[in-house]
Amino acid sequence: MIVLKTSRELALMREAGRISQRALREAGKAVEPGVSTWELDKIVKNYIEKAGAKPSFLGYGGFPASACISVNHVVIHGIPSKKQILKEGDIVSIDVGACLNGFHGDNAWTFPCGDVSKEAQDLMDATRESLFAGIAAALKGARLGDIGHAVQEYVEARSYSVVRDFVGHGVGAKLHEDPSVPNYGTPGRGVRLLPGMTIAIEPMVNQGAYQVKVLDDGWTTVTVDGRLSAHFEHTIAITPDGPVILTLPD
Ligand code: MG
Repeated sequence: MIVLKTSRELALMREAGRISQRALREAGKAVEPGVSTWELDKIVKNYIEKAGAKPSFLGYGGFPASACISVNHVVIHGIPSKKQILKEGDIVSIDVGACLNGFHGDNAWTFPCGDVSKEAQDLMDATRESLFAGIAAALKGARLGDIGHAVQEYVEARSYSVVRDFVGHGVGAKLHEDPSVPNYGTPGRGVRLLPGMTIAIEPMVNQGAYQVKVLDDGWTTVTVDGRLSAHFEHTIAITPDGPVILTLPD
């Protein structure tokens, strides 16, 4: 069931989104060679808790940390660890959710660690731009397939691939709500977008094949071919005046 939010609820979601985005930025600023992914997770947790919110991911389905931190060929759901020390040239996807006033914000960004290869930078640029192509398609009266198509077309035109096994989702009082928001699709197909819908659009884009696999820890999701993957996400609202990003810093 898709829950439509009132304007009052959207204002509350914007607060949760703001904290999610600021926590993500704080962690991003700390990405540099020699830092552990555990340290980045602490930054996220401390920021969210100081703001009076709760990390959405901590304990969600048993997830043991406040942020998912996914380095290089890890697509999503990387578990922060003191043993994982970032190196020059890594690309570091950080996914952060915060819950405030009973609503969640969910966002992700891939950060370069020091100087990265041109190939890695191009992948990150294309993934970020595909997110904004998806957001631009999230118009009242359009359909979910229009969003997925916009992302997929942008990505595949650059010879990358979109992950199929994991998708975006509705966001609200629950971190994951209906509908599912695939990063692929057919224009004009799927659920119609209505004002008050709040969704996370989150392209996961692979340098090589789209196939992924989940490691034995039950979380860490990697590309099957070991090539790089990037991930960018915003929570947005469908409004009569067009899509509004809820995960903004101010
Ligand atoms: Mg999400």
